Amino acid sequence: MQVVKHINDIRTILNDKRKEGLSIGFVPTMGALHNGHISLVELAGQQTGLVVVSIFVNPTQFNDKADLERYPRDLQKDVDLLTPTACQLVFAPEPDEIYPEPDTRQFNFGTLEQVMEGKFRPGHFNGVAQVVSSLFEIVQPDKAFFGQKDFQQLAIINEMVRKLNIPVEIISCPIIREADGLAMSSRNMLLSPVHRQNAVVISATLFEAINKTGGFTVQELCKWVITRINENEYLNTEYFEIVDSVTLQPVKSWDEPCSKVGCIAVHCGKIRLIDNMEFGVMKD
Ligand code: AMP
Repeated sequence: MQVVKHINDIRTILNDKRKEGLSIGFVPTMGALHNGHISLVELAGQQTGLVVVSIFVNPTQFNDKADLERYPRDLQKDVDLLTPTACQLVFAPEPDEIYPEPDTRQFNFGTLEQVMEGKFRPGHFNGVAQVVSSLFEIVQPDKAFFGQKDFQQLAIINEMVRKLNIPVEIISCPIIREADGLAMSSRNMLLSPVHRQNAVVISATLFEAINKTGGFTVQELCKWVITRINENEYLNTEYFEIVDSVTLQPVKSWDEPCSKVGCIAVHCGKIRLIDNMEFGVMKD
């Protein structure tokens, strides 16, 4: 496995590989890798001829400076974790390589970016679109793999690819969880032991809520989830919404003919965690 830091180098390598007839699979990450990331890499390995993983903590998508500073970084550990996987090439640029000058591009994703993460993290998805569009330009993948863990991000990326006519197929990959149900996240390693222990209440409450859709209205169930989680002294819910999986707008009734996803953001001490689960698939 090769680790490359410069755009020119990765371009040269990938041009040669393309000439050999290999299709390129791409997994963009911010490092601090875990088995959620590795599941994307393995899927990419099954579907494409050469897997590229980028490791880049993108400053433009952090609306909170403290969050950017404390974000875990350990390139050698990431490389060690990727070595036995399907990944053949790691692209790990420095910020100056991606942003030799400030990126002033403004994307507009309409109502998709005005809810949930977009509401609470202003500028976040613009930063995501800046970095992912730049990385797509550099890597020019045939397929790119994104986790459903970041459900709204996946919708934004699909919209960006559609709007800008970027010739890449976006593959949506399932959430990988810890044994106790907590969604895997690079931020989990920042939790103190007691916060880590209590963080499980987030996924446990969502699993419980899925079985309550019969007895509650959508609004009642949202309230129930928030109250239940906030009863825990280590947790503070920022939002929980049950939304249409395509438009991301809140659903008003279980009868609405759409697939529904419950999306949540919770502060666990200083660390902000997100998760989501399906709350009913569309009936024919
Ligand atoms: P990140 O490094 O957090 O930017 O994540 C890189 C990619 O890995 C994104 O597409 C995430 O959605 C995905 N990812 C992160 N955690 C998980 C998880 N627990 N299960 C599946 N995919 C994940």
